[in-house]
Amino acid sequence: MTSIANTASGSRSSNKVAIVTGASRGIGAAIARRLAADGIAVIINYAGRKADADAVVAGIEAAGGRAAAVQADVAVPAQVAAMVDQACTLFGGVDFLVNNAGIIQPGLTMLADTDDELFDRLIAINLKGSFNTMRIAAKRLRDGGRIVNFSSSVKALALPGYSVYAGTKAAVEAMTNIFAKELRGRGITVNAVAPGPTATDLFLKDKTEAQIEHLAKLPPLERLAQPDDIAEVVAFLVSPAGGWINGQTIRANGGMV
Ligand code: NDP
Repeated sequence: MTSIANTASGSRSSNKVAIVTGASRGIGAAIARRLAADGIAVIINYAGRKADADAVVAGIEAAGGRAAAVQADVAVPAQVAAMVDQACTLFGGVDFLVNNAGIIQPGLTMLADTDDELFDRLIAINLKGSFNTMRIAAKRLRDGGRIVNFSSSVKALALPGYSVYAGTKAAVEAMTNIFAKELRGRGITVNAVAPGPTATDLFLKDKTEAQIEHLAKLPPLERLAQPDDIAEVVAFLVSPAGGWINGQTIRANGGMV
């Protein structure tokens, strides 16, 4: 863990605290920077890439924000619990949970070619990881908080080669909707964001230039999303302006599906 800067000069000040899972890279890092710019103290969760997580913290601190890097495998309940404890110790509580951490199959993997190990890994991180953090959030999130889960627009697009990955995201969408109702009376909203193709390691690795070009042209806006496009949606959902949206999955994909 790195040091914590307690000033938020240049940012709107806030007493809110967010945990962003998988914030060392890609969409999660953009979300962390965006929330920190709103004065929110951010836990930068990561699985293994400590240097990347520390760099995100350093960038936020340099801009006058507050952040700390915390390693935890979201698939492991005890590590998730320890992360929440650390967030409370460092920043006094937790208001927002952004369940961004996720993995995808290598390239296109047809259902018939999916081995047990890959199936179990996708379920453990994408589905059980979101379950682990939501279960503890039910007890530890402050009233009036926000939970933002991560689905994918490929669930609606139904592209061959994505069956198990899309299955984990379909389950996350179902839990999102029901969990929002189970938190009745707490003032906590639960929503999901379902990005389309977004320029991160997860999307770009294991694809040919031609595949990337094809997928980038699917939305009528004719480009890949950048992580900041998705971070803006999350920032809206956790803001007071987003407070009436609850139990929904927001597709952020440039109109692709
Ligand atoms: P990246 O591969 O760029 O980043 C993944 C992040 O998740 C990293 O910070 C990584 O940590 C972390 N992570 C992976 N496994 C774990 C774990 N077990 N515990 C904790 N953290 C973990 O992914 P993206 O930014 O592209 O994806 C973010 C989310 O958006 C995912 O849920 C993905 O399914 C979803 N999404 C992405 C799309 C895209 O086109 N990029 C499209 C639709 C949805 P570390 O750096 O330590 O490895």
